[in-house]
Amino acid sequence: MKKRDFLKSVSTILGGMSFGLHFRFIEKKLPKYWIWLRPDFKTKEDEWHTIFAKLKAAGIEAVLPQIYSSHEALFEIEGYTVKERWLEKIIPIAHDHGIQIHAWMWTMPCNDPQIIEKHPEWYVVNRKGEPAYNQPAYVPYYKFLCPRRNEVRQFVQHRVKTLAQIPELDGIHLDYVRMPDVILAKGLQPKYNIIQDQEYPEYDYCYCDYCRSEYQKLSGVDPMDLDDPQNDKDWYEFRYKAVNDMVNQYLVPAAKSGNKAITAAVFPNWQSVRQQWHQWNLDGFLPMLYQGFYNEDILWIGEEVAKAKQRLGNDKPVFAGIFLPHMKDDDLLQAYQHAVEKGANGFSIFAYGNLNPKDYELIKKMTK
Ligand SMILES: [Zn+2]
Repeated sequence: MKKRDFLKSVSTILGGMSFGLHFRFIEKKLPKYWIWLRPDFKTKEDEWHTIFAKLKAAGIEAVLPQIYSSHEALFEIEGYTVKERWLEKIIPIAHDHGIQIHAWMWTMPCNDPQIIEKHPEWYVVNRKGEPAYNQPAYVPYYKFLCPRRNEVRQFVQHRVKTLAQIPELDGIHLDYVRMPDVILAKGLQPKYNIIQDQEYPEYDYCYCDYCRSEYQKLSGVDPMDLDDPQNDKDWYEFRYKAVNDMVNQYLVPAAKSGNKAITAAVFPNWQSVRQQWHQWNLDGFLPMLYQGFYNEDILWIGEEVAKAKQRLGNDKPVFAGIFLPHMKDDDLLQAYQHAVEKGANGFSIFAYGNLNPKDYELIKKMTK
């Protein structure tokens, strides 16, 4: 590490500046103002400097670059097709401008043809017995892995561990830590031309052989034989726990092995995606409060922040995830002010590519 960078990272360390023996156990302060960034290989180094400088001037403290979206990796990792070492390239540039980098990775979907071929049994199965690797719900990429299987947990953990070993990386950000939506957000159902007034078998997971036999061992019942699975509390809890255990027992320790912050993008309608995130031992949460998909207005964002804080016991930071394409005029500012009143610790904007010049001015006001 160059001396300048060392001093910079020291200056962002939280707490009483105790050097010496305790130094390596002190974590950096978690940012308040985040923005998601989709991959971009065309932008040149000097242009990245301009981009990060502009974001910093607006008050943005962390960028979440998407470095894995279920197939090729955009960082060096063993066993994967590495398309480009994009993450390693942008970290030092961001740091030059005092911006943290938290690597945004998809967690459960896996569209790697080699994995599909070698391990079809790793994939979730719906209540009709259809596996996601060849009969995915809604869209072709909805090929989710089963969060209960040890091999899957280790496969995902390897990715988090590898990221955690990148010394300059500030944090790891999990996305898609869940099962496919058993009920889609209301505003999305017309898009797929479906009405989901209850849980239908083709969208209800995971009924893979492993989950069925594990549940049978525990309860004496094959979940395929349940009369009313959508009202079966034990069967619900069993599936929440599969995801919770993967996060808490595999992914959090992997991130902490490299002393990284770990956060996740999560759903407000958490039951529908088997995502009981208030049980996860993460450093912070970035709920995707994209009101348009739920046929709600901007005030709903704050209401959901309040619910999240309550579910978390007011114990963990919640950064309101804001969907830029749903915002008009000064909605962004209004929505965020309301979210702060309801307890938001900051915001995260989706996404960099949707920013227009007037948004920078609004963000400046939001980060003041
Ligand atoms: Zn399963």
